[in-house]
Amino acid sequence: MEEVDCVVVGAGVVGLAVARALALAGREVIILEAAEGIGTETSSRNSEVIHAGIYYPANSLMARFCVAGRRALYRYCAEKGVPHLNCGKLIVATSAQEDAMLAGIKQRAEANGVEGMRVLSAAEAIALEPNLACTSALLSPATGIIDSHGYMVALQGDAENAGAVPVFFSPMLGGRVKDRRIEIDVGGADPMTLRCRLLVNSAGLHAPGLARRISGMPADRVPAAYYAKGNYFTLSGRSPFSRLIYPVPVPGGLGVHLTVDLGGQARFGPDVEWIDTIDYTVDPTRSQSFYAAVRRYWPALKDGALQPGYSGIRPKIVPKGAPGQDFVIQGPQTHGVPGLINLFGIESPGLTASLAIAEHVLEVSRTEWSMIA
Ligand SMILES: Cc1cc2nc3c(=O)[nH]c(=O)nc-3n(C[C@H](O)[C@H](O)[C@H](O)COP(=O)(O)OP(=O)(O)OC[C@H]3O[C@@H](n4cnc5c(N)ncnc54)[C@H](O)[C@@H]3O)c2cc1C
Repeated sequence: MEEVDCVVVGAGVVGLAVARALALAGREVIILEAAEGIGTETSSRNSEVIHAGIYYPANSLMARFCVAGRRALYRYCAEKGVPHLNCGKLIVATSAQEDAMLAGIKQRAEANGVEGMRVLSAAEAIALEPNLACTSALLSPATGIIDSHGYMVALQGDAENAGAVPVFFSPMLGGRVKDRRIEIDVGGADPMTLRCRLLVNSAGLHAPGLARRISGMPADRVPAAYYAKGNYFTLSGRSPFSRLIYPVPVPGGLGVHLTVDLGGQARFGPDVEWIDTIDYTVDPTRSQSFYAAVRRYWPALKDGALQPGYSGIRPKIVPKGAPGQDFVIQGPQTHGVPGLINLFGIESPGLTASLAIAEHVLEVSRTEWSMIA
């Protein structure tokens, strides 16, 4: 049986950031990935927005890691030449009732440490974005967009340069806790068993299921997995806006918003569709609900202009209707299993927060070391 120091399961953006942080800290790291390459699941099926950290409850992990992660991410992109653009975002109000909500959103953002938020009159907002219809808006200058694949390639490069080894087509099937080590059964073409001192479960949508297959991990500490699909519709031609445009949030979601990719293509979404099994098909009829929502802030949207794009699935750990759930990062002090760190519910803003999540995992691996070593 092969013995390694650390195993990270999952080569999505979070697993790669964690593997990089561990390898740079001098740990021996193997990254086990079931798919053929990096980032084939949620990390390549999202809005590619560098979030400022506006909406999350004060002091939540999402708020803290989004703001710290965003600052670290801009620095990292500049240093490594990862394509990105600090384009800014407008949250637009289209009624007197929504005008009144902007101050509260600004206040929450500022409590989270988001810099530069500014309420704009309709005229000021339209001067920035002439195609916009609104009664007022909130400008978030810290928001941006990123080439998520380019970012993951850079993380993988750093991790490998520091000695980490990614292994593809290698699903972790299950494992067991034995003699203060974790034994991992690896499937694929060459099945084998690995023994490690630290196992980081960063399997995204599959993290709860995987944790349940580690014998010794208390089942009552593993959340249930729920899937909330987000569908996108794309707009042909160039984007009518240069900033990201978000309506005032609605209960349970951010509303149908417009994001732009680095190629200048606009996409609307993601909406929220609760599903039971993983299925990325986009139902074209869902575009119907987009038209009315978008025309509130962009009345010029033409019938038939929206084409089905792609979808991503939020790795939820609470069911439909439940209040929002923070990131859950469990170390030995939470579940009592030496050497295991589980990452559950790493939905948005997980891409933005990835470098901060990785620092936190490193910290947990150090501070809970006596239970891990
Ligand atoms: C619709 C949508 C929009 C989003 N928009 C944004 C945004 O604009 N900005 C932002 O900051 N965040 C956004 N997010 C969140 C962000 O995309 C995720 O938080 C992030 O990609 C999660 O990365 P991950 O590495 O945890 O998971 P994943 O990318 O899902 O990676 C998990 C990996 O684990 C592998 N795996 C699973 N099981 C096993 C196993 N048993 N053995 C080996 N490998 C395994 C999978 O193959 C996969 O590669 C969005 C999410 C969604 C769904």
